[in-house]
Amino acid sequence: MAPQNFKVIIVGSGPIGIVTAHALSKSNIDYVVFEKGAEVAPTNGSGHMIFPNTLRFLDQIGILPQVASAGKEVYTKSNFLKDGTTHGEIDLGQLCLDNHGYKPIYFQRSHLIQALYDALPVEDKSKIKTSTKVTNIEVTETGVRVTLADGKVEEGSIIIGCDGIYSQTRQTALDLANAAGKGKKLDGLPYKSVIRSYVFRRDWPTPDKDRCLMWETRSGGLAAQGFAQKESLIVALFEHLDVPKEGYSRFSEEEKEAFKKRFVDIHLNESLTVGDVMENDKINWDFFADQEEGKSDIVQYGGRIVLAGDSVHKITPISGLGLNMGVQQSIALVNRLNGVLSTNQSPSSATLEEAFKLFEKDCAKTLAKTLELNTILGDGVTWANWPAWFIDRVAAPWIGLKFIVTKFYSKDILRHGFVLNSLPKDGLKQGQVAWVS
Ligand SMILES: Cc1cc2nc3c(=O)[nH]c(=O)nc-3n(C[C@H](O)[C@H](O)[C@H](O)COP(=O)(O)OP(=O)(O)OC[C@H]3O[C@@H](n4cnc5c(N)ncnc54)[C@H](O)[C@@H]3O)c2cc1C
Repeated sequence: MAPQNFKVIIVGSGPIGIVTAHALSKSNIDYVVFEKGAEVAPTNGSGHMIFPNTLRFLDQIGILPQVASAGKEVYTKSNFLKDGTTHGEIDLGQLCLDNHGYKPIYFQRSHLIQALYDALPVEDKSKIKTSTKVTNIEVTETGVRVTLADGKVEEGSIIIGCDGIYSQTRQTALDLANAAGKGKKLDGLPYKSVIRSYVFRRDWPTPDKDRCLMWETRSGGLAAQGFAQKESLIVALFEHLDVPKEGYSRFSEEEKEAFKKRFVDIHLNESLTVGDVMENDKINWDFFADQEEGKSDIVQYGGRIVLAGDSVHKITPISGLGLNMGVQQSIALVNRLNGVLSTNQSPSSATLEEAFKLFEKDCAKTLAKTLELNTILGDGVTWANWPAWFIDRVAAPWIGLKFIVTKFYSKDILRHGFVLNSLPKDGLKQGQVAWVS
């Protein structure tokens, strides 16, 4: 039975906000989503690789075919040196199919978010309120109260902060914890940048329109990734920073152009260089920024505020795991909420706090493994230091990419993917690496 008076306020309709909405909807838990942007899925944005752990959840809630049709299956990942020499290739799609029963899918970001939104039940769509910025959050004895930019006030039982890296919800939780003398006192952002990146998207006549090709080039301190899918090409250029940087960086146009120039001769694949495809007049979206990495010291406050997605961790794009990790958090969180609400429809703050602590524990190991892998990949692909060069250039080809992906992605991370405990798991696909949950 659906709890009568329990209502979740989600801040942010990024991918994690919408996935959380799906999980709550399937659990018959009432919710509302406040999104400050004018649209659910603005057309700016790069691309996201969605791995089998996320796809299995979409399969469980019955929306996989609809969402999948907005992206393209990934097949080969081809590695290169900067002169275009081949440095290994793996059929990533086939390997994930063999290991887990699902091929990864690459989406243009706006297509993914739009498809997730479109797949919500019709009656839920009105629960996503765009152009509605949350400006203030208060915790009361029995719930939460948020103030919106237009001055309106909304009450709920809990807040899930899915409001991204500069999360106001996280800041409120921190301020409240600091004021109450709980938790560690923190100044500013908890994440540090280790990678600087320029990412762009342009139209591209992809030779194979049904699948996504992935290219990855390594070079001293620099790396490039290319995703050719549907009619567009998304390229990400990375530089490893010598010293991790704190805080938000702003760059001038000159700095951006100087950064881009350093990549023009680097090959994206055997025949194309970055310079061949980085034509300013053909680029329809780009983004130059430092990419933060790390996890927040605070995951919840007082059983009333809890965080998921980039608001609570930040994983650079190199491993393609940030969003996938956020999805895991959404599902784990809703499982814990379901557990509480199945026996008590008006849980106290203390009961919710206990449930949120368990949620944090549920995700801790996978998050630690994900951050660890992301650091290794970031160092490895940019040849950030001599050990990283040795691992990428010598050890990895010797060990074999299939073994590495199976060990570090499939076994350490993907197999631990959550699905909703309240729904059946029958019929979900399996591969050679058995799902843990
Ligand atoms: C170039 C690039 C490539 C990437 N590729 C991958 C990949 O291949 N695979 C992968 O798993 N991950 C990838 N990631 C990471 C992924 O983009 C993030 O992990 C993901 O977007 C996080 O989603 P989110 O919903 O937590 O936050 P966001 O996407 O940041 O969404 C937060 C939302 O909250 C809204 N908001 C913020 N404050 C408020 C407020 N006060 N009131 C109301 N609304 C508010 C914002 O407008 C926004 O819509 C990539 C990241 C980058 C930068």
